[in-house]
Amino acid sequence: MKSKTSQVTIVGAGPAGLSAAIQLAEFNIKSTIVDENPEIGGAIFKQPDKGLDKSLFRNEKTYIRAKKLFDEFFTYQSYVNLQLGSEVLGDFSLSNELAFLHNDKVKTLPNNPVIICTGCYERAQPFPGWTLPGIMSVGGIQLQTKCGNVKPGHKIALVGTGPLLLVAAKQLHQAGIKVVGVVEAGLKKDLIKNMFTLFYNTKLLKEGFSYINYMKNNKIPIFYGHGVVSARGNNELEELVIAPYTKEWKPIQEKSFSIQVDSAGIGYGYVPRIQLTQMLKCEHEFNANIGGFYPKVDHWQRTTIEGVYVAGDNGGIYGSEVALHQGRIAALAYLIDNKKITVEKASRLIKKNRKKMNNLKKFQSSFDNFSGLKSGLLTLPDSDTIVCRCEHVKMESIDVAINSGVKNMTGLKIRTRVGMGDCQGKMCGSFCAEYLSYKLGDTREKIGAMKPRFPMSPIPFSSITNKELEYEK
Ligand SMILES: Cc1cc2nc3c(=O)[nH]c(=O)nc-3n(C[C@H](O)[C@H](O)[C@H](O)COP(=O)(O)OP(=O)(O)OC[C@H]3O[C@@H](n4cnc5c(N)ncnc54)[C@H](O)[C@@H]3O)c2cc1C
Repeated sequence: MKSKTSQVTIVGAGPAGLSAAIQLAEFNIKSTIVDENPEIGGAIFKQPDKGLDKSLFRNEKTYIRAKKLFDEFFTYQSYVNLQLGSEVLGDFSLSNELAFLHNDKVKTLPNNPVIICTGCYERAQPFPGWTLPGIMSVGGIQLQTKCGNVKPGHKIALVGTGPLLLVAAKQLHQAGIKVVGVVEAGLKKDLIKNMFTLFYNTKLLKEGFSYINYMKNNKIPIFYGHGVVSARGNNELEELVIAPYTKEWKPIQEKSFSIQVDSAGIGYGYVPRIQLTQMLKCEHEFNANIGGFYPKVDHWQRTTIEGVYVAGDNGGIYGSEVALHQGRIAALAYLIDNKKITVEKASRLIKKNRKKMNNLKKFQSSFDNFSGLKSGLLTLPDSDTIVCRCEHVKMESIDVAINSGVKNMTGLKIRTRVGMGDCQGKMCGSFCAEYLSYKLGDTREKIGAMKPRFPMSPIPFSSITNKELEYEK
């Protein structure tokens, strides 16, 4: 299919983006999907790089779900202009275009109508020693085995909160790595207390138990109500200090102990990837339970900007199943807005999905009572801990800035340079905003968020010098 005929732009080829494209194709609507990865699938269904062994990916239960989605997607291939290895860099609002980088060339495609399905990234948690080689985000460590077939280390601990710790522990163990323990900040009794509401989704509940059983059967200990304190090592990680956490997740230092590891996956939450909806001037709201700021949407996933729809984790972290349903809903919204289907017909089509989606959301919110982040995490860094890794800003400078009157994220950025580096605050932004809000007692709305700038990621000079922009229409 020629890209010229595409009617809708979709950013992101994860569950949300693929299901949006499928729904559009069912109504003969052609779309262009751009995704920075070399393969479709997004974070959960991330595939091994081309030419690498896919056996670990295949062994997973998730592969069955991935295959079903991919097979359905490829039956509609002729309706989709798939632009992989293409990273969207931002919005050219004057010409109504999105710019993206493909093969070192900056290209553009229409920015409206657009379904934004950019997913989420992991929230970084600074603590003393967290910049030592060997310490990674839990998703990052998982992806090394999942798609790169690289063993991230020999003795690993997975520390943080939420189901991804167990998923990653199993995958790493299956890949032949010694997993010395899973350290979960949530309390076991809070998990049991919420068991009743977790029955909203028996499939996910069973899956959760199967992971717990896997740990038991393979003698991988789970430390509930514990978390990280610090990391030590000579040039690389050698030991991780762990302690029981209080109700507010503050480490009880006198009960701390250390475990000998050469790698650790740290995972304290996710953040919706909202840079593109921020650039497109969509209104955003805040809810800590679903990752922070997310674009405000109506019942049909329409943002506050006409022709801009969102689906999936970038609209609030609810997981891959909800992302699939939301992708369909956003596509139906486009069809309604363009008179290809009536609201009544679309409502009938999506009725079952909405019911399933609402149950999944209830399941998710009951999990928040166990896994929702607590303020003790903000006390982990000491004055010497680097918070912004790009600009090497230490905790001490952040405290000095607050004491000298900084009141919001813009002020903090100007005063300390946090978020001014290559990642534009993807790493430190959430922690800094939470810390400001905690220290000043102000709402996160008042504190604000990091604002993205063009290009959202660094690009090579060669992509913009002596070359005309190329157009994908
Ligand atoms: C690192 C990580 C690992 C995870 N592992 C698991 C797991 O093992 N099991 C599980 O149940 N859940 C996992 N999750 C959660 C799960 O992946 C998500 O809930 C689910 O994938 C949401 O689907 P989505 O379509 O909204 O987003 P995603 O699947 O994240 O898809 C978004 C896609 O958009 C692309 N994208 C984003 N911004 C741009 C841009 N500017 N330009 C081009 N492309 C862009 C991303 O690369 C990605 O491919 C993981 C999440 C993360 C972040």
